Amino acid sequence: MTQTGNNPSRRVSKMPFGSRTDVGCVRDHNEDSLIVTPPLFVVADGMGGHAAGEVASEIAVQTIAEHAPQHPNGEALADAVCLANEEIIKAAEEGRGRMGMGTTCTAAMLEGERLIVAQVGDSRAYLLHEGRLQQITRDHSLMADMIEAGHLTPEEARIHPNRSVITRALGSTANAAPDVYELNVETGDRLLLCSDGLSSMIWDDEIERIMLTTPDPQRCASNLVSAALDAGGYDNVTVIVVNVEGFAEARRIQSNRKTLAWAVGVLALLVILLCAAAYGFNTWINTCAYLTESNGYVAIYRGVPGSIAGIPFSSQEEVTDISTADLAPNLAEKLRSEGVTTDSMDSAKALAEEYRAQAERNKAAKSGTMPGANANANASASADSAADTQKKSGDA
Ligand code: CA
Repeated sequence: MTQTGNNPSRRVSKMPFGSRTDVGCVRDHNEDSLIVTPPLFVVADGMGGHAAGEVASEIAVQTIAEHAPQHPNGEALADAVCLANEEIIKAAEEGRGRMGMGTTCTAAMLEGERLIVAQVGDSRAYLLHEGRLQQITRDHSLMADMIEAGHLTPEEARIHPNRSVITRALGSTANAAPDVYELNVETGDRLLLCSDGLSSMIWDDEIERIMLTTPDPQRCASNLVSAALDAGGYDNVTVIVVNVEGFAEARRIQSNRKTLAWAVGVLALLVILLCAAAYGFNTWINTCAYLTESNGYVAIYRGVPGSIAGIPFSSQEEVTDISTADLAPNLAEKLRSEGVTTDSMDSAKALAEEYRAQAERNKAAKSGTMPGANANANASASADSAADTQKKSGDA
């Protein structure tokens, strides 16, 4: 039984993985089961004959899928494995499968850079780390015990008549607690879960070579199974390969968020500064005023002369009845060409009254009611002086 995909009840992390199972070249049915529901990955290798092994391994993966924790937790995952053991024993007692059926079980949970493995039997978990393949689990098998005791070499174990004897399995006893491994892994590592149909058919250095040279996890899983089949495929063979992405994706998202937040902050600050500058400028120009010529008459404007992009910095306050033709020629020219700026509307109006007085004197002089040219020249100089004084005040 194979189940692959994302279990909607679990938080799905972006974790590339691949899997493949194959009956092999000798057996007539596949007693292996696997489940791939990130962050949970399980391989189970059933035994018992007459299809009972398939029942046992399927109960194992289904029970663990239903009862595994949402996030990696060694104790909770071990509890799920123990529950699977009870379910297999109960099924045999109820006539599903056969008495004595059993299964190995290697269950892994991988989230971020935390890896938990709970294992019973001889299905293995490996970690490819910094280019080296390391076996995480220790087989519960007679061969493993004999190799550890120095009675056999790994090469001798491969052809030993008892090479299939396992010393712990789910379904065999009420107490089949798993070994639990808890590891911190790193981005770039690769997790491999497999039944002994892989690890008994090809050596670890060949597994390592394939894992190093096949980056895509699905292609890697497929190539590993193909290698076992090419080597004879004497057993069912099941493989799960998971690329550890760790927190790289989370870090990338966090970094992007920080960059975005920084950019928004800078933009907001710029907008605030621009608004403050615009407000200050607007407040300032509203206190200023200037006099200029409009259709031959002195006009008073609020603001300052000029504009940006067609937007003027001033608005007309009033057009007086003072004709610029009655003012001294240099003053009339100044009003026409650049205007006379003051620092307030009151100053501008006071200055306009001075111009009015000058204009009246000049008109009287022209009509002969005032002393002539000298008075005109003096009045003109006086008004010019007043305009310059105001302008300097405005410039300041
Ligand atoms: Ca097997």
